[in-house]
Amino acid sequence: MARIVLDELAHSYKPGPKGPQDYALKRIDHVWRQGGAYALLGPSGCGKTTLLNIISGLVVPTEGRILFDDRDVTRLPTEARNIAQVFQFPVVYDTMTVRENLAFPLKNRRVEASVVRRRVEEIARLLGLSRVLDRRANNLTADMKQKISLGRGLVRPDVAAILFDEPLTVIDPHLKWQLRSTLKEIHRELDLTMIYVTHDQTEALTFADEVVVMYDGAVVQTGTPDALFERPEHTFVGHFIGSPGMNVLPCTVEGTTARVDGQTIPLAGAYPDLPQGRRIELGVRPEFTTLAAKGAGLPVRVKRIDDLGRVRIARVDLGGRPFAATVPEGVAVDGDEASVILDPTRVHIYADGHLVAALPA
Ligand code: ADP
Ligand code: MG
Repeated sequence: MARIVLDELAHSYKPGPKGPQDYALKRIDHVWRQGGAYALLGPSGCGKTTLLNIISGLVVPTEGRILFDDRDVTRLPTEARNIAQVFQFPVVYDTMTVRENLAFPLKNRRVEASVVRRRVEEIARLLGLSRVLDRRANNLTADMKQKISLGRGLVRPDVAAILFDEPLTVIDPHLKWQLRSTLKEIHRELDLTMIYVTHDQTEALTFADEVVVMYDGAVVQTGTPDALFERPEHTFVGHFIGSPGMNVLPCTVEGTTARVDGQTIPLAGAYPDLPQGRRIELGVRPEFTTLAAKGAGLPVRVKRIDDLGRVRIARVDLGGRPFAATVPEGVAVDGDEASVILDPTRVHIYADGHLVAALPA
């Protein structure tokens, strides 16, 4: 096992002279401690697969280094890295049995046959493949085949880390929850470093103890699921995490208030370093914004109410911008004129997308 260190890592697929926009990864510094359950979360195209392939050795970065503990592996081939990788789509040998498929990564590693059998049966048990161990892989379902791929990644006891690249893409939705918690249990049992790539916040937040959020080739925040929700360091994180995501309102700070469209929002005096007079963005989650009667807060026009079961979310128009607020229990929405009240202790202040002021956590 190993600590994985990214040192000023950057990558461009474009040959020859490059501008800033030609980089799929832009100067990433990061450390993954040994033994953690990590998620790498970001929208499609932000560079997740590129980063994973650099860690496994399928791609050599154009700039920077990657270290396992203190060993520079930047230019080492995949085979020399002791890393297992599970891809989005199943990689199985159709002519082999499930048992042979699972045992394959242990071949040529001078592992005793009895140890291989025990290991394969253990992994099959964890993944629910015991019943089909001696069947050929070719006529199994896509779900089963992807479980075999997961098993092939998990079977080697000596790997430094396992990388999962959107591994549940082909899995039936009702099985996803189950398989995700299985992976989490396996993480506890095997004590391995796992990096789980996904564009789905629910997958990331339920799997990982620590989430790295990527946006446009860069890491914008690393934190626990709680921290990402409570204290988004970038408006993108606030927007991407949570459903619906954080509201972002452009405004100006005057003293201890924010001005939006001629309206004044009091900010708790405790906010340090408010950037006076500048155009800023005010971020507040729908969870900390309530819909109220007309005149009680910032005027809004109600577009619709989404009933999410436990809560109701009002989709409103605030000075021409879409905004979301919680509808408190017992509040009836009468007509489309209403107002919203922001919890001033839950407001974050951003400049050019970056967090500049928030209450101390
Ligand atoms: P993600 O996995 O987050 O969807 P990728 O790492 O696949 O993102 O892609 C990041 C960027 O690099 C995208 O703009 C994509 O088009 C580009 N890209 C990915 N692979 C290649 C490649 N082999 N050649 C050229 N460009 C690529
Ligand atoms: Mg990808």
